Amino acid sequence: MLELRTDYLENLNVPLVQKLINETKALFTKSLPIIVTCRDKREGGCFDYPAKLRLDVLVAALKTGVEFVDFEYQNFLNTEYQEKLRLALSGCPKGRLILSAHNFGKKFENIEKLYRSIKAISFAAIPKIAYMANHINDCFDAFDLLHKTSGQRIVICMGEAGVISRILAKKFDNMVTFVSSDDESATAPGQLTIQQIKQLYRFDLLKSDTQLYGVIGSPIRHSLSPAIFNACFDKLKMNALYLPLLVEGGKDEFDEFLHKICVRKWLNFKGFSVTIPHKQNAINFVKKEWGIIEPIARRIGAANTLVLSGDNKISAHNTDCDGALDAITKGLRINREDLKNMPVAVLGAGGVARAIIAGLTEAGCKVTIYNRTVEKAQQLASEFNCSFAPLDKLFNINAVLLINCTSVGMYPNVNESPVPDGLLNDDLAVFDTVYNPQKTILLSEAKRIGAKTIDGVSMFINQAMTQFKLFTGQQAEPKVMQKTISDCLSKK
Ligand code: NAP
Repeated sequence: MLELRTDYLENLNVPLVQKLINETKALFTKSLPIIVTCRDKREGGCFDYPAKLRLDVLVAALKTGVEFVDFEYQNFLNTEYQEKLRLALSGCPKGRLILSAHNFGKKFENIEKLYRSIKAISFAAIPKIAYMANHINDCFDAFDLLHKTSGQRIVICMGEAGVISRILAKKFDNMVTFVSSDDESATAPGQLTIQQIKQLYRFDLLKSDTQLYGVIGSPIRHSLSPAIFNACFDKLKMNALYLPLLVEGGKDEFDEFLHKICVRKWLNFKGFSVTIPHKQNAINFVKKEWGIIEPIARRIGAANTLVLSGDNKISAHNTDCDGALDAITKGLRINREDLKNMPVAVLGAGGVARAIIAGLTEAGCKVTIYNRTVEKAQQLASEFNCSFAPLDKLFNINAVLLINCTSVGMYPNVNESPVPDGLLNDDLAVFDTVYNPQKTILLSEAKRIGAKTIDGVSMFINQAMTQFKLFTGQQAEPKVMQKTISDCLSKK
């Protein structure tokens, strides 16, 4: 299906639109349904054309044989416009009217009332309601309306926070979702490209009973998780979809989001990956709901995985810790027991450092934490009973393994290293948790001088493999994850 947004045409006139429709139809051998829209500027139109001309365009489009014309519900309330459109539609039995309402600022006060008003003025028309979601929590009004109604209707949330409504359109039996042909030609905020929605988000395979998963975080646009999980679902031919879930704000917004999911079992969400800044919010939510907290997540004080079971029980897990420890033991060709008494220097005192330090100290490593903000290193050291020092004391390092848990060297600052020149030597193995790029400056330098290296992708894959198993009970293929990550990183 193709939408012709004729309000984007300069010097708009009726013959120009007729020519455009005929030429467009001639381009396709298979019949391609066309929606002709000439949007009012007040509802997101491009040029400010008078209502009479916009109506003339729609009437001519119907006579030229298009399947759908889209007119604003607010303008349809004008009896003169209404009669003109009704007359044109009665002469073109194939043509259908879409009556649309847009709010580019925020959600509608009462979306159900609006829907009923549109149906009341024309039962045969297809209602289209599009509004700006200023937060992902605004999307639930749209989902509820779609859940309660059936038949042809279009309900879409705009903006980055509304992206999931565009992806889930097929699951909810929305008549259409709007996509652009490429990155530059989007006609509304948050619109994805046809390639993204079909390939990355498996649009054609979505069904009403598709199981949903996603990564909760902010920002989330550049997360690799949707690509790797969806590639694994594809490989295993699973009726499942993994979404990017942009949850802005803090604990309150996070709690509201998860609460809205939990009371809507029909959405069929089964699990979440959780990233910055919500890992602590995740474990606190599960505590509050009397859910199950896996011991390692409790020790770390943060969860990167939430699983929703059939009886609506929620459990919290942390797969970062084992993901990192397995990457270390495999990279150094040792067993977990060999970590006992190993002196390790950890750079950073954020979320990833916390998860790795919890695992290292449990395995008996002698950890020293170096961090830019010394107070954070001190706090973490006191929690896990290890040593700490400021970054400028790195020259006195006494370790056989150095782990970078800072974001230094991460895209786009790929030329930065977290350690000063001359610090590395071939007796000091280096693990960089940064995975974008896979070969950081730190790892390149370590490799150059002959030290053993472990990259962040290995940890990323390990933690995602465990999440996949927790989510689905099935084993994902690490090769599929590895290839997807390489493909994604090479495009950046
Ligand atoms: P976080 O909680 O925000 O912590 C960031 C850490 O980096 C803090 O210790 C911070 O020091 C330090 N830092 C930031 N900029 C710095 C600079 N210019 N100089 C020195 N130190 C600096 O983030 P996180 O969740 O721990 O993630 C850290 C990194 O881990 C990410 O960037 C990502 O690349 C990597 N990661 C890897 C995986 C994986 O599976 N491989 C998973 C998640 C994350 P202050 O305390 O002084 O601010």
